[in-house]
Amino acid sequence: MTKNIELQNKSLFQTQGFINGEWVDAQSKKTFIVTNPANDVPIAEVANMGAQETNQAIEAAEIAFQQWKLSPIKERYSLLMKWYQLIMDNQKDLATLMVVEQGKPYAEAAGEVIYAATFVQWFAEQGKRMNGVVKSAFSPNAELKYTKEPVGVVGIVTPWNFPLTMITRKVAPAIAAGCSVVVKPSELTPLSAFALAELAQQAGMPKGLINIIPTDDAASVGNALTASATVRKISFTGSTRVGKILMKQSADTVKRTSMELGGNAPFIVFDSADINTTIEALMASKFRNAGQTCVCANRILVQSKIYDEFVDSFIKKTQQLKVGNGLEEGVTIGPLINKQALEKVDTFVQNTLSKGAECLLGGKPHELGFTFFQPTILSNVPQDSPYNCEEIFGPVAPLIKFDTEEQGIAIANDTVHGLAAYFCSQDYRQINRVNQALRSGMIGINTGIFSNEFGPFGGVKESGIGREGSELGIEEYLDIKYSLLSFQ
Ligand code: ADP
Repeated sequence: MTKNIELQNKSLFQTQGFINGEWVDAQSKKTFIVTNPANDVPIAEVANMGAQETNQAIEAAEIAFQQWKLSPIKERYSLLMKWYQLIMDNQKDLATLMVVEQGKPYAEAAGEVIYAATFVQWFAEQGKRMNGVVKSAFSPNAELKYTKEPVGVVGIVTPWNFPLTMITRKVAPAIAAGCSVVVKPSELTPLSAFALAELAQQAGMPKGLINIIPTDDAASVGNALTASATVRKISFTGSTRVGKILMKQSADTVKRTSMELGGNAPFIVFDSADINTTIEALMASKFRNAGQTCVCANRILVQSKIYDEFVDSFIKKTQQLKVGNGLEEGVTIGPLINKQALEKVDTFVQNTLSKGAECLLGGKPHELGFTFFQPTILSNVPQDSPYNCEEIFGPVAPLIKFDTEEQGIAIANDTVHGLAAYFCSQDYRQINRVNQALRSGMIGINTGIFSNEFGPFGGVKESGIGREGSELGIEEYLDIKYSLLSFQ
């Protein structure tokens, strides 16, 4: 099946699970097929693993952890930096693999390779800064201190929309902290995960430190990871629904959890906004990855005075998007991930139109067929539209008009989610007021893209627990040990 994917470094194309430093088949010999979302062509037949292989991986990870937790920080640093360099050196192949299994345009995929690699580089450095604290003022006859220790084996479950970054953003801090990991990638994009593991192996990562369990039976692997008392932490990115399941399952062994869950991002355009800045920010936030990110603008709230001018510019800019296979030159919108995704987006659009919304652009599956959907703009979206409470995950922009700043903020906060929020304004007092009023883990002000290794990524309310990236990301993989030593 490799004939569909042209790679310079053939070692990056793996189809087996990765356990204890070896590529292995499922014990049952079962496989599942990974297809290209742009044309439905099968691209790989992948080992279909389950609880048994997961438990083997956990055992290997525990043995690796016992050694790795004692490794000097400089050793972790060099290994992570080698891994970083290999990811960068293989940027083109990793990008090609990603386009073929995930669908995003090549330029976005090449950008994601760098984005993913920078988390490895960043956490190689952050590993040097895992400091404890000594409180010398406590008593002349005692030493009061706290130190940080790796939590142990980490179970990691990741989605398909950023097949590399969602893994490096968790695995790199875990490894830097001294942990080992068992990763279950999405069944839709396991090839990128395998390529990362292959490069980690080539970087010299000790066996058992990183294990990858591919499966199309996510629940069986999720159950095994959460049931194991050896696994001390679950780090998950995906839907709020599955996040809640994993949190409940983790309760029995009181595991630590990091949950990066669904969003329902408002994008507020105030009358004071600069139109060009606004449109640029919105295009990036709304249409990146064909609208399939958890921080994509989900509800576009536009103040009444600027509404007409905004709509005009937004339509013109959206008409310039080019839909197609991500490997084709100039394509800016790839396919949706699969048929179900297309049907879901289509149903949302039809439901919203039937409730009185108006279609200003697109509104239908694209003539290219398969899983392509037209870039779509809907206006007059009523408050009881499904868009107001669900993630769209497609190239559809619903517009809601509002009159006052208070109304805009109230609509924006009227959701159980709180991952990302955006607003555009040139009024510095308004910027301060709105920034304070929005209940959201992350806020983009006059920008549509804020995710990078420097900033803490994460949500509030039902959008999750914990932060990834920044100096906080590594703390998710560290336990605190408080010691009081008396000299009396
Ligand atoms: P998305 O809508 O982004 O696919 P999901 O939450 O369905 O979000 O999937 C994210 C990840 O969670 C994927 O790797 C998927 O296989 C996995 N997953 C889905 N259901 C379960 C489950 N019951 N237990 C563990 N992992 C699961």
